[in-house]
Amino acid sequence: MGPVLVTGGAGYIGSHVTRLLAERGEQVVVVDNLSTGFKEAVIGAELVEGNVGDAGLIRSLIEDHGIRSVLHFAAHIVVPESVADPLKYYGNNTANTRQLLDVCQTTGIEHFIFSSTAAVYGSPSGGIASEHSPLAPINPYGWSKLMSEQMLKDLAAASPLRHVTLRYFNVAGAQPNGLLGQSTPQATHLIKVAAEHVVGKRDGLAIFGTDYETPDGTCIRDYIHVEDLALAHLAGLDYLREGKPSATLNCGYGRGFSVKEVLDVVAKLADKPLTIEMTGRRAGDPAVLVSKADAIRDTLDWQPRFQDIETIVSSALAWEAKLAQQPMR
Ligand code: UDP
Repeated sequence: MGPVLVTGGAGYIGSHVTRLLAERGEQVVVVDNLSTGFKEAVIGAELVEGNVGDAGLIRSLIEDHGIRSVLHFAAHIVVPESVADPLKYYGNNTANTRQLLDVCQTTGIEHFIFSSTAAVYGSPSGGIASEHSPLAPINPYGWSKLMSEQMLKDLAAASPLRHVTLRYFNVAGAQPNGLLGQSTPQATHLIKVAAEHVVGKRDGLAIFGTDYETPDGTCIRDYIHVEDLALAHLAGLDYLREGKPSATLNCGYGRGFSVKEVLDVVAKLADKPLTIEMTGRRAGDPAVLVSKADAIRDTLDWQPRFQDIETIVSSALAWEAKLAQQPMR
């Protein structure tokens, strides 16, 4: 099997994957610069503080541990920030991925799991994106990931490295037993922001745009539970270890909820009304973005387990309540 390297393993999604890998007995080395991640979130793995772009460090970790598989999560992920500071995204997401792939090539890494995003599709026609939909990002975040996807694809064609690229739709929720969750400071994602409001960390929240061409005028997204998403990474790794060919797969459930629908669920589960302001549209938001979700189920040994929106929201609320008592370090 061989030990695995997880970049960004102290972050939201990386920490869930790390814990699941450790739980099934894998040896995991996490490299994370702790810019947005937390030491405490690394459960069952060795944590090395450092940057993905530090070729010397990554090379020695791979060689010293005999690593054969890399799961690459480390990245910046905030769309509006990418619009304001694009080079930050091309630097950390694209240039550092190139550097990491260079080390992977020269050290003979065999399996690479890459965290990509539905943002590579921009605004797909009809709001549904399949893996064959046109790739047309509408913000630098999406471009920074698409460029990395392309490098990976080209490298896989030119070398023995094989990859599973996972295009995440809207990731939300927390580890079902309350062990982990999203702790990112200055969060911008809808369910996280709403959960922070519920625990009193924010006075209210805004709905960005009520004039979209959707039934209630607010944007529709395909929210995927972080634990299901994490399990998809393990299934992707197993798939590559079985010798199967590289694949690029959407990670969504194939159904969408509007911003208003999500906030109604939050209010219901929190059992209190939310303070909501209706504001204008946010730059870079497509009206509808839902996954065509067959390919991942056909390709990987993966079945969704937590797709119920109330399950997603309640886990996010439980985590936020815990975080309010006990901040992450
Ligand atoms: N959104 C909102 N208020 C917020 C955060 C998000 O109305 O405080 C909307 C946002 O405009 C989008 C949807 O919620 O339509 C999902 O946004 P999020 O930032 O969670 O994820 P994205 O789809 O941008 O990856």
